[in-house]
Amino acid sequence: MTGRVLVLGGTGEARRLATALVADGVDVVSSLAGRVADPLLPPGEVRVGGFGGAVGLAAWLAANPVAAVVDATHPFASTMTASAASASAVTGVPLLRLQRPGWTEQPGDDWRWVDSLEEAAVAVAGFGHVFVTTGRMGLGAFAGLTQEVLVRSVDPPEPPLPARTTVILERGPFSLADELALLREHGVDVVVTKDSGGHMTEAKLTAARELGVPVVLVRRLPVPPRVPVVATVEEAVAWLSALP
Ligand code: NAP
Repeated sequence: MTGRVLVLGGTGEARRLATALVADGVDVVSSLAGRVADPLLPPGEVRVGGFGGAVGLAAWLAANPVAAVVDATHPFASTMTASAASASAVTGVPLLRLQRPGWTEQPGDDWRWVDSLEEAAVAVAGFGHVFVTTGRMGLGAFAGLTQEVLVRSVDPPEPPLPARTTVILERGPFSLADELALLREHGVDVVVTKDSGGHMTEAKLTAARELGVPVVLVRRLPVPPRVPVVATVEEAVAWLSALP
């Protein structure tokens, strides 16, 4: 493959892909949404901020020609993923979705699947202490909860929040020992998470299993049709290398 690659980022995979491509001498521009105050930056060029929907991304691609786009955004960044699919279809720029696999239930788990944060809030209504680990966006879905709610996010969440909310500001990875201690310290009765997958934030699931705590998981949206999907940085590099 010759030419530039646009990596839609905001994830560890996106940073690792940019690192691998830059090391191979590929011209990379990584794109971040600009949500996190102090993001970990990938090597190579970085641009920050939304494109203005699918139309804006198509216009950006027309003004900044690239050989391919790799959508390595978070599994729950579904608006960006949909925009990338539309812009690729319109412009003809090849698009690859790099998405880590979701988590797999194991013996001893008590997982309850839901389709949205709103459904997750309904699912935890009857529980005591709720641990919400879905990130700082969309927490308004839980605002009506009246029990103790522990929220963990990288940057401070914005209101509305549940009336009895404790916020912990932390960035993963989290160890099993720390997650066990946190769940015990706060007497957590149920954990809420998106099915983000990956090892960085997996320890909370192991801790919940060990303590017999149920987990409410928000299901992913499917990847848009006709977009090829890979699970690893190595597969993404191979896909790019195979491009003409
Ligand atoms: P989203 O709902 O899909 O995106 C909302 C809007 O933010 C998009 O329409 C786009 O704006 C802009 N945007 C998102 N990702 C972008 C990127 N990489 N470069 C430029 N613009 C981007 O996404 P989100 O859930 O808000 O996530 C925002 C960022 O945080 C993503 O980069 C994602 O990888 C990262 N992240 C998300 C989660 C999560 O749980 N959702 C967790 C960890 C990290 P325009 O329409 O104006 O182009």
